[in-house]
Amino acid sequence: MDRQQEFVLRTLEERDIRFVRLWFTDVLGTLKSVSVAPAELESAFDEGIGFDGSAIEGFARVFESDMIAMPDPTTFQVFPFEGGVSGESARMFCDVLLPDRTPSWADPRHVLRRMLSRAAEKGFTFYTHPEIEFFLLEDRPNDGSVPVPVDAGGYFDHTTHAVARDFRRQAVLALERIGISVEFSHHEVAPGQQEIDLRYADALTTADNIMTFRHVVKEVALSHGVQATFMPKPFTDQPGSGMHTHLSLFEGERNAFHDASDPMKLSKVARAFIAGLLVHAREYTAVTNQWVNSYKRLFPQALPDRITESPAYVCWGHLNRSALVRVPAYGKPNSARVEVRSIDSAANPYLAFAVMLGAGLKGIEEGYELPPGAEDDVWALSNAERKAAGYETLPENLSEAIDVMAGSELVAEVLGEHVFDYFLRNKRAEWEQYRREVTPYERERYLGAL
Ligand code: GLN
Ligand code: MG
Ligand code: MG
Ligand code: MG
Repeated sequence: MDRQQEFVLRTLEERDIRFVRLWFTDVLGTLKSVSVAPAELESAFDEGIGFDGSAIEGFARVFESDMIAMPDPTTFQVFPFEGGVSGESARMFCDVLLPDRTPSWADPRHVLRRMLSRAAEKGFTFYTHPEIEFFLLEDRPNDGSVPVPVDAGGYFDHTTHAVARDFRRQAVLALERIGISVEFSHHEVAPGQQEIDLRYADALTTADNIMTFRHVVKEVALSHGVQATFMPKPFTDQPGSGMHTHLSLFEGERNAFHDASDPMKLSKVARAFIAGLLVHAREYTAVTNQWVNSYKRLFPQALPDRITESPAYVCWGHLNRSALVRVPAYGKPNSARVEVRSIDSAANPYLAFAVMLGAGLKGIEEGYELPPGAEDDVWALSNAERKAAGYETLPENLSEAIDVMAGSELVAEVLGEHVFDYFLRNKRAEWEQYRREVTPYERERYLGAL
């Protein structure tokens, strides 16, 4: 037993914790959890916990269904605010193994780890910092009717006496208590819409933190008698929920994206990384924006009807919020970073970080040239102007996104054959189901037609 494992067992005993949840994530990003009694944990550290992989989205076919969840003691966390028998519970993330104890090719955590070691071979550590947007709703109707947001607030509004402010304070406190540092939190543009930004950390930690975040935010919402949703676009006429993610590579203590001698303080590494993000953007969009609904958010929006700032075209810009990749204003050398603005709040963070890192590293390996930045509002350009500038359009719907992904060597390589094939099959089925659906929009429009 190593020191981390001993620490876990000692803490459970000292704090009289009766439940330990072992967490892992399926291919679509759903959190899975199995509770074990502390007495079982010692053997779980040795042998893991067996489960039926064929019952988990994307994990295995029935004839190869035995899988093992191996708790990662470095992710051990006591949840002081949750009701176990003694008032406290704890959780650890798991790595998923095959019966021969090799990592499962279906485990999203493993997919990300594999990319992180690729980066490490080149001397890079990959850091991410997500800005997570979501809605707080009075209820969550499951008959498809339009939900009611908890307030009528707008961007940065200080909504006194409304649930949102107390909610954010409690959610942030709860996150801080379990070691997840929050940088900012505020009311977003739409009624009921909130944003909480996590402090940057290495990408595996951030992905674990996002999974934890979703759980904590939903729990805190419930304790206020409201519902939190990470659905990318719940309302037709309101902005959707993005998860803008800031990316950077470090070489040891040094931010590899910073170069003091460059006018924009961007290193060659950063430029090639951005170029990779752009060249492969259409290919990995199915992963960063994985639902039928995701594409209702990425809709291009020209003034005067613009309701939000989510990207629809493949370009980058300095400070430009209509671009897919934005380079934020220059701050301290170590805060040099790029912001990807397409990814939404319902992505699987492990897979999304893996494909973005894969695209950026490809740019570095192949020495991609960064095209000129877009400094004007790309939504305001005509199609011909955009074409002349070389800005491609992001996939317009899930179907197009899967088609482009299916032809991508890069995404196939990053996800591995199993996840790649499963993902495409699953998403194709989702699209087919949606495609045959007759929507309220059509009835409204065509019942009286002709
Ligand atoms: N909600 C917007 C989106 O969908 C982002 C708004 C913002 O943070 N500027 O990406
Ligand atoms: Mg923000
Ligand atoms: Mg925002
Ligand atoms: Mg942002």
